[in-house]
Order: sequence, then structure tokens, then C-alpha cells
Amino acid sequence: MLNYAYRGLPWDIVFGVDAARRLPDEMDQRGLERALVLTTPNQARQGEQLKRQLAHRAVGLFSEAVMHVPSGTLAAATHMAKAVDARCTVALGGGSTTGLGKALAVKNGLANVAIPTTYAGSEMTDIWAVTEGDRKVTKRDVRAVPTLTIYDPKLTLSLPPKFAAASGMNAMAQAVVNVATHRPNPMVGAMAADAIRTLAQNLPLIMRNGDDLEARTGALYGASLAAAALGTGTTSLHHRLCHAFGGAFNTPHAETHAVLLPYSVDFNASAIPKATSRVAEALGSDSAAGGLRLLAESVGAPLSLSEIGVGRSDIEKAVRLALAAPLDNARPVSPDELHELLVRAFDGQLLGSGSAIATGARTSQPA
Ligand code: NAD
Repeated sequence: MLNYAYRGLPWDIVFGVDAARRLPDEMDQRGLERALVLTTPNQARQGEQLKRQLAHRAVGLFSEAVMHVPSGTLAAATHMAKAVDARCTVALGGGSTTGLGKALAVKNGLANVAIPTTYAGSEMTDIWAVTEGDRKVTKRDVRAVPTLTIYDPKLTLSLPPKFAAASGMNAMAQAVVNVATHRPNPMVGAMAADAIRTLAQNLPLIMRNGDDLEARTGALYGASLAAAALGTGTTSLHHRLCHAFGGAFNTPHAETHAVLLPYSVDFNASAIPKATSRVAEALGSDSAAGGLRLLAESVGAPLSLSEIGVGRSDIEKAVRLALAAPLDNARPVSPDELHELLVRAFDGQLLGSGSAIATGARTSQPA
């Protein structure tokens, strides 16, 4: 029998090719003014252009956003926001920049506009974080959800295909864990399944032709749906593992998701076979883990932990960190099993209980 609870988030979204051109009008309609534009150093030039486009609506540019919102960066952005009397932020960039806007919203009550240029999907969740030293503290707060999100696929054309692949697999992970889950929710699952299909269709097309605007549009839509599922759904072993590696070894966020996803899905498959087969179906594959692995291969995403800077000796610590707190997962995870999973992920050998597939791996590099 159908039995579920669903709580949505206050999304306000404008999606479409050239949607970013409408930003001034959209801001005026919502009474958003005195914007501090946020970017990473890499996207500072686009930030300047955006500031010019906003004219009197923009009061400054802070172009020092970095991954994981270090407390020093948040303090510097807060200082600047106060100095220019900003009333809102406009974050142009990936999850790092959106994350800074979210932290400023929660800590300083600044309305936040997000213009995502990767597939991280942070703009659709209420998850925000600040990092103090090497300790990243993540919380959920509805005030973090952007006041307005503008998705313009044209802004993703400059995303290099290699990063688009990893970022797309990060989005895929958000969707997959909300279909292959022991806590299914029909509304979340519907968004997540469509996200899986859309991402699986479009990511390979982008790899073939980075200028394919239709594929870029599909991938951005898929990523937004995947993140909507994450924002209103659940996480389990997979996100715990990625958090452990990112936190302890500073592995690149999107690439860590790309590597670990087939392994975590494979691990849980025997406990939730029906849910896992829905992932396979959405991927158009016989096996969820195998299909994810083939997709990662076809888009050139990293396939092994050794490729993303993890050493074999790091595995022990990752196991400890991942299991340090209680974990709500489809099946219990013992330290030995997790160790074995990570050794296989280190070598890039997908050969677990849940899938019969050992795909033709690219040769993984030594640590
Ligand atoms: P990122 O934002 O760090 O971007 C990586 C690099 O790519 C940056 O230098 C950026 O300026 C550049 N870039 C972004 N878009 C570009 C484009 N279109 N063209 C050219 N260069 C571009 O990376 P990310 O993977 O998007 O975000 C990672 C961060 O987001 C992590 O801190 C992660 O924890 C966080 N995140 C949070 C959530 C959440 O729900 N809170 C979800 C996903 C990710």
C-alpha cells in the first residue's frame, strides 16, 4: 500500500537557453536589489560581465569562492557584503560558489540568487556547509535554498567535457541513491528516475560534441532534477563514503562521486534488488552497477580511487571515518566488507556481489 510523506522546498526556478539575460527583470519582479556577485577566481571575468549587466542592481563582486566554503572565505565575503551594504547575492558558478551564497544566506540573512554552471545541484538542496580547518560541518536549513535559481544551459558550454563528465556523475549519484534506496518515496523516486534517464542520455552526447546545446540543456535539466531528489530525499552509504574521502584526503568532489557510485550501488544491490533494478531500467542496462560503470567509462570519468589521488594506505582511515557514526543504509556495513569494497574501488575492479559485471576497466594508475 502507498504510504509516504513528502516535504518540498521553496524552489523558484527559471530554466532555459538565454534565461540569464532575464536576470535583471527577474530580480526586479522579486524586489531583489544591491547584489553582491559571487564567483570563484576562475570565473571572475564572467562575474565582472554579470555585474555590468546588473548595472545599478549590483554593488560589488567577490571572486574568491573556493570549494567547501572555508570559514575565512565566508568571513571575507561577509565583510565585503557589509562594506557595500549588499542585500542579496548572485552566485555564478558551481557548487563552491552556490555554497558561499547559501552560507551567507543562513548566517547573514542575505537573499541568494544562484546561476549554476556545473551539474553539482547544490542550488536545489537545503544543505549548506562551512569548513573550519579540515572540519567541514554540513547542516540542513531551508533558509539556504536560493531565493531564485536561473538555469541557462549556454553557461555550461564552457564546462570542459572532462569536468562535465565527473560533475554529471555527481548529479547521477544524487538520483541513483534516491531510487536504489531502502527508504523509497514515490515523488522523490519519480524525479530521480527521470534524472537518471536524462543524464544517461545526454552526458555521452556532450562528450561527443561539447557544443551540443540540446545535450547540455538535457544534462542541466537532469542535474536539477537529481538535486531536487537529493534535496527532498535521502542519502546513505555512497554519500557517507564521498564525505569521508573529501574530508580526510581532499579528493575532488565530483570525481569522488564518479568513482565510488558503481561500488556503493553494487554493495547494496542484494538488499534492495527491486529498487536497484529500477536504476538499471532507467539506465537501459541489465545491471545498475554495471550500467553506471559503463556510463562512467563512456564519458571518460575516473574509474578508480588511485586515479584521484587516494593511496592504498588511506583506505583504513576512510573505513574508520565512514563508520564512525551510525549509518542508515539498505544493509549493515561491516569494516571488513567496506575495506574490501574500497580496495576494489582503489583498483578500479567492479566485481561485487550485486553485479555479475567486471567491465573492461581502463588500466588504473599506481597511487
Ligand atoms: P566547483 O564549483 O568548485 O567548480 C569547479 C571549477 O570549475 C571552479 O574553478 C569553477 O569556477 C569552474 N567552473 C564552474 N563552472 C564552469 C563553467 N561553466 N565553465 C568553466 N569553468 C567552470 O565544483 P562543483 O563540483 O560544481 O562544486 C563542488 C562543491 O559543491 C563542493 O564543495 C561540494 O561539497 C558542493 N556541493 C554541495 C551540494 C549541496 O547540496 N550542498 C551538492 C553538490 C555539491
